[in-house]
Amino acid sequence: MKVSIDQSKCIACGSCVAVCPEVFELKQDGTVDVKDEWKGKEVPAELQDKVQEAHDICPATAIVIEE
Ligand code: SF4
Repeated sequence: MKVSIDQSKCIACGSCVAVCPEVFELKQDGTVDVKDEWKGKEVPAELQDKVQEAHDICPATAIVIEE
């Protein structure tokens, strides 16, 4: 699983950060993004459920998961 955020959709509500702060972060400029360490990388198995939950609750359907 790889994950990214479609910045054209994200409303920076912070829900994904609340659910999975290991992978998502609020940036200095007020946007929310996948942490640099996970960009383009395989999300480890132990975090995949939380990433999936963040995806499922995102109000803007901005979280993109690639299997
Ligand atoms: S839950 Fe969705 S809309 Fe909210 S900050 Fe995360 S990606 Fe953006």
